Amino acid sequence: MLIDGYGRTVNYLRVSVTERCNFRCQYCMPEKPFSWVPKENLLSFEELFLFIKVAIDEGVNKIRITGGEPLLREDLDSFIEMIHNYKPDIDLALTTNAFLLSDVAQRLKDAGLKRLNISLDSLKPDVAHKIAQKDVLTKVLKGIDKALEVGLGVKINMVPLKGINDNEILDLLDYCQKRNIKIRFIEYMENRHANASLRGMHGREILAKIKERYTINALGREGASPSFNYIIKETGYEFGLIDPHKHDFCESCNRIRLTAEGHLIPCLYFDEAMSIAKAVKEGDIKGASEVLAQVLRDKPKENRWKENPDDKKEASSRAFYKTGG
Ligand code: SAM
Ligand code: SF4
Repeated sequence: MLIDGYGRTVNYLRVSVTERCNFRCQYCMPEKPFSWVPKENLLSFEELFLFIKVAIDEGVNKIRITGGEPLLREDLDSFIEMIHNYKPDIDLALTTNAFLLSDVAQRLKDAGLKRLNISLDSLKPDVAHKIAQKDVLTKVLKGIDKALEVGLGVKINMVPLKGINDNEILDLLDYCQKRNIKIRFIEYMENRHANASLRGMHGREILAKIKERYTINALGREGASPSFNYIIKETGYEFGLIDPHKHDFCESCNRIRLTAEGHLIPCLYFDEAMSIAKAVKEGDIKGASEVLAQVLRDKPKENRWKENPDDKKEASSRAFYKTGG
């Protein structure tokens, strides 16, 4: 079992397979990137898998593949299959923007993928375009339909932004409610790569919008999930709120993150990381395990997103497109 320095059990590994993306979401990436990490610096699937086996053997039972946009990485289904075959009962999920999903959903399912989290910030083509800085909505909605058709579990992530898509919170809630898929509203996490003019919505503001139409009751956090759940009294539908600005958000954190270059990151907010690249390139299982142990010892008690999200001094320098959110 993996226990961090504050006694929290860590059983959840998020693996980013690429920092590259076919979108430029304003809350995640600068409009004109910067140089990508050269392809030769990325770990191969075999190298990532070596570390994943170490993590599974030591107690990880939940893995999420993310990015950047993970579907940009060729043969992703073969990577999923490697993990699935090693431990078929592992909770194996993927986070995607769904733009490329409709063509590969069946292959991902056949490879052993169980669940998808899909980012959907608007149901209006022009607003979706504005956020992603690309005409994306038709293909994203097609990807969602296909995932449901092939029997993958689907959850939707929405990041409400003031003056951009905050008037669509109820529309997206009802879109998901109608399809009986869960929506999680994510508080915008300030970071230095995002468009500096963006203003996120605090969890209480998101809930206030929902209360304009529905009566809601709090259910609480589901285990160590980052999502705090609510139920709509009129319909029995459950939705989630991911509220990293809340003071108790980090108390049950069970997550560590691995980037495509092999940086093992103890906390989403901070830049601190240790590399597993040398160990996995040399097939050094003991070395990989020692890095994992050190990262657990280094895991901070809490992030620094504060209750007041307008406090710009608190913007994290961590790039979400590298760590996968
Ligand atoms: N490209 C995939 C996608 O968009 O789903 C996976 C990677 S993306 C970084 C993972 C999640 O992080 C998405 O749900 C996205 O909405 C969320 N995210 C990115 N930047 C964020 C920010 N500044 N605040 C809150 N959530 C953010
Ligand atoms: Fe790409 Fe996902 Fe970031 Fe949007 S949130 S730019 S889709 S990595």
